Amino acid sequence: MLGLEGQSPGVPLEEVTVAPPRFDVSGLTAIVGAEHVHTDALARARFGTGKSTPDLLRQRAGDVTTAPDAVVRPGSHDEVLAVLAYAASAGLICVPHGGRTSVVGGLVPESSSATGTVAIDLTRMNALLDVDPVSRTATLQAGVRAPDAERLLAEHGFTLGHFPQSFEYATIGGFAATRSSGQASAGYGRFDAMVVGLTVATPRGTIETGRAPASAAGPDLRHLFLGSEGAFGIITSVTVRVRPVKQLAYQGWRVESFADGLEIVRKLAQDGPLPAVLRLSDEMETMLQHSGEGCLLITGSAGDVSVPGAEPLGEEPGEKWLRGRYEGPYLRDSLLDAGAFVETLETAAFWSRIPALYAAVREAITDAFVLCHVSHVYETGASLYFTVVSPSMTLDEWTRAKAAASDAILAAGGTITHHHGVGTDHRDWYVREVGALGIEALQAVKRALDPNATLNPGILLPPV
Ligand SMILES: Cc1cc2nc3c(=O)[nH]c(=O)nc-3n(C[C@H](O)[C@H](O)[C@H](O)COP(=O)(O)OP(=O)(O)OC[C@H]3O[C@@H](n4cnc5c(N)ncnc54)[C@H](O)[C@@H]3O)c2cc1C
Repeated sequence: MLGLEGQSPGVPLEEVTVAPPRFDVSGLTAIVGAEHVHTDALARARFGTGKSTPDLLRQRAGDVTTAPDAVVRPGSHDEVLAVLAYAASAGLICVPHGGRTSVVGGLVPESSSATGTVAIDLTRMNALLDVDPVSRTATLQAGVRAPDAERLLAEHGFTLGHFPQSFEYATIGGFAATRSSGQASAGYGRFDAMVVGLTVATPRGTIETGRAPASAAGPDLRHLFLGSEGAFGIITSVTVRVRPVKQLAYQGWRVESFADGLEIVRKLAQDGPLPAVLRLSDEMETMLQHSGEGCLLITGSAGDVSVPGAEPLGEEPGEKWLRGRYEGPYLRDSLLDAGAFVETLETAAFWSRIPALYAAVREAITDAFVLCHVSHVYETGASLYFTVVSPSMTLDEWTRAKAAASDAILAAGGTITHHHGVGTDHRDWYVREVGALGIEALQAVKRALDPNATLNPGILLPPV
């Protein structure tokens, strides 16, 4: 029901109208060329949202209040630098856009005092700049989408091994800016673990990081920008560690209970051998998504896998999961058409806290089916990914349930996000997680790099 009854599947974007831009765009056209500055209603409406549920609902209602005044498509690092410098001097706000798959309000800044907002679409910057086959590194421009990155790297025999469910649209820069984690994270690591260097354009100039594979030369500035969600600068290229392409074989396993499964995957994570893909569904997810009993465990591995304590189910469940792995999240759109509610939330914690964290989140969300799986494991802990399904929840009820779940996550020792990022939705809990002094330190960094608060105000950090 969602409080959405009677809503059409959405006002077509082609039919929306927007007010004229609040500023003269000639300063932008002088930098990137008139053909790369868009002020038409369609382009502006498209760049007014991401993929959070409020984003989708706003879009369906034809609400374009968050549309930027202009969309700019720079073609190089220098053009990004020049746009930022111009925007800072003109009092404009800039929002970098990659694949626009943010599910946490990361593309909708909070600002009332702006002269205007510019969406910076990075997808024109889509080249593989360099491959170093000896060091096994590659440098990609920020706007390369994940499938293109895999295709470009495969021409050199390499893979990134980063396969999040947003794979089809998300970009290399977006992965770095949000510290994304893919389904093969057990084997290839999270995206931030793959990054060996970054080039960043800020309103005050360029920062380059990543001179060597490891360094004791002070704090590692890469980590200032990984996860910075466009608040400190715009990542224009990323140097990543790559690996030779390997075919993985997928298999299904049955375990008796989620508690047993957690022990099994913990032992694999701590003592090995660890498959590249390791995904454990709880009883509810196994029943509702896989029509199975007990708990389904999926493994994907280049070699033989043995999972002590689990019953082998053969290749079929693994192959089935592989075929449908990018489809699930987009069901949200069609379920919204039917007035049903599906949302997700995720967290991570040390192993010793996982059972209590799992129970606390399930307890905090009432009147809905709560499904859960573990898909990212570490020696010291794991992430929990919850899917909430309800035929009758309203958006207000979800907002309250999500707040209760977020409080429960912090109380149980989890992090407010393992891979979706902070955006605007998680900001209040992020502030609690990091603490006042931590936020003050980050705001000092922002002031140094972005003194006019040009970039993503209110995203990641509270607006100043
Ligand atoms: C269907 C679906 C499935 C998803 N599955 C996963 C998953 O499996 N794992 C996962 O980790 N996430 C997942 N996500 C979340 C999302 O895909 C990630 O946050 C992703 O990393 C964002 O990449 P993007 O290119 O789409 O960035 P965008 O959504 O365009 O931007 C995300 C944030 O980063 C900023 N930004 C973007 N590019 C840059 C840049 N070059 N420099 C600086 N800042 C920048 C933006 O301003 C914004 O704040 C999913 C989202 C959807 C819609």
